[in-house]
Amino acid sequence: MADPKGFLKVDRREHAERPVAERLADYRELVLEPEPPVVRAQASRCMDCGIPFCHQGCPLGNVIPEWNDLVWRGKEEEAEAVLYATNNFPEVTGRVCPAPCEASCVLAIDGVPVTIKDVERTIARTSFESGRGLAPVRARVRSGKRVAVVGSGPAGLACAQQLARAGHEVTVYERDDRIGGLLRYGIPDFKMEKEIVDLRVAQMAAEGVVFRTGVDVGGDVTGGELRASNDAVVLCLGARVPRDLAGPGRDLAGVHFAMDFLVQQNRRVAGDVVPDAEAILAAGKHVVVIGGGDTGSDCIGTSNRQGALSVTNLELMPKPPLVRMPDNPWPAWPLVLRTSSSHEEGCAREFAVMTRGFVADASGTKVSKLTAVRVELAGGQVREVPGSAFDIPCDLALLAMGFTGPETTGLATELGLALDPRGNIVSDAAGRTNVPGVYVAGDASRGQSLVVWAIADGRRVAAAVDTALEASRKGRHLAATG
Ligand SMILES: Cc1cc2nc3c(=O)[nH]c(=O)nc-3n(C[C@H](O)[C@H](O)[C@H](O)COP(=O)(O)OP(=O)(O)OC[C@H]3O[C@@H](n4cnc5c(N)ncnc54)[C@H](O)[C@@H]3O)c2cc1C
Ligand code: SF4
Repeated sequence: MADPKGFLKVDRREHAERPVAERLADYRELVLEPEPPVVRAQASRCMDCGIPFCHQGCPLGNVIPEWNDLVWRGKEEEAEAVLYATNNFPEVTGRVCPAPCEASCVLAIDGVPVTIKDVERTIARTSFESGRGLAPVRARVRSGKRVAVVGSGPAGLACAQQLARAGHEVTVYERDDRIGGLLRYGIPDFKMEKEIVDLRVAQMAAEGVVFRTGVDVGGDVTGGELRASNDAVVLCLGARVPRDLAGPGRDLAGVHFAMDFLVQQNRRVAGDVVPDAEAILAAGKHVVVIGGGDTGSDCIGTSNRQGALSVTNLELMPKPPLVRMPDNPWPAWPLVLRTSSSHEEGCAREFAVMTRGFVADASGTKVSKLTAVRVELAGGQVREVPGSAFDIPCDLALLAMGFTGPETTGLATELGLALDPRGNIVSDAAGRTNVPGVYVAGDASRGQSLVVWAIADGRRVAAAVDTALEASRKGRHLAATG
């Protein structure tokens, strides 16, 4: 275990962030990496409790106490090996995971958990800097089996990497022009710069994964064709159908889905030119972001960087408490108010507010105002508070109210895939759909979720595919990594 008295001697110290004024001037990552001695001291706070709850909190089952101990002892390579045994992309989770592990750390009972996410990111960074974490892990034994992975988000990438390392011939089909799914075109660069995705994709290519971008499966190539030319097909399509808002003025210019706005900015940062006629920009505008989740938060950070005049964030649900309530005890995920780095950069936050619609400016075509009403929860139902209607100046409204499911229409019909009432692809615990040889992983089966769950799903389904292809997964994988 790490220092048995570490948690008594060392206070929790999280990474610092760049000053707001500085970071709003660019799209670079805002985290300032802690120095190695600080990270070692933080890792020493891990008590290696008899029953560690942290790695139950982690969907990947990361064996956190083990790598905390190794980091504290300065055994970098061993810490990397332990971390990579359960997580293909710690450089990603170390940046964007909400860290349920920290919420379930025993020290979180007193509100000062180990800085697990910082330690994880540091292990990943060290492994990148030394080149160890990016060295291709090539399978020594080839199975001769072919697998098509559709979609290149974290689920597809984790699945593809695991299968390639187990010796299968893997092709990833992606309809976008670049690999990465929401890692590439959803999550803004100020949370995660895209170079790290490129480095991982290059590693996978060197491991034998073939990437085919610009291919819409169900359009450019049919699901049937993929089934016929592969031994297994894994659908990692994501869940990107946005929830819409019905109401007067929805069609006015200036009312957009959040993702249309975010994708454009990620493209600009990547050096693409977004044509003026299509550009959605917050500069000089009163921006209203509807929806209080990750997507909404990313819209706030992006709007402020673009130079919005004001940013208001509307959330339908009431303001959560600042601390855990008695019916939400440790180690459950704390249902408390979350303030993201984007919120800290500046925005007005309004809770328990329902948008009624949008009002046009004098031209009759562009949004100039948003009409809303305050609501309360009564018997589990959202009820308008009489006489509480109000307007907000609004030149740009961004709808970030979540996602209703995957865009499966053509593919689901063609393959005859069973869907649940929300439109997600139905599967068993191994990711098998009702169509033989066709699997599903990530948001396409669980609905819009988290990167860490997508990686965990990708790994789980890869293991099931490998087993089904009668490969000796364990033997091959160990041979490949050993
Ligand atoms: C704006 C935003 C911010 C987020 N921030 C965070 C965060 O900070 N932390 C976190 O943990 N989670 C975050 N999430 C959630 C997280 O990004 C997702 O849960 C995760 O990316 C899901 O991974 P996936 O591989 O299942 O799907 P995706 O990442 O959505 O990838 C699916 C891929 O499949 C491709 N595809 C779909 N259909 C086809 C087809 N027919 N043919 C070929 N390709 C196809 C798509 O183009 C896409 O590239 C965020 C989500 C959004 C929208
Ligand atoms: S992946 Fe997320 S939950 Fe797991 S150890 Fe890392 S930060 Fe914690």
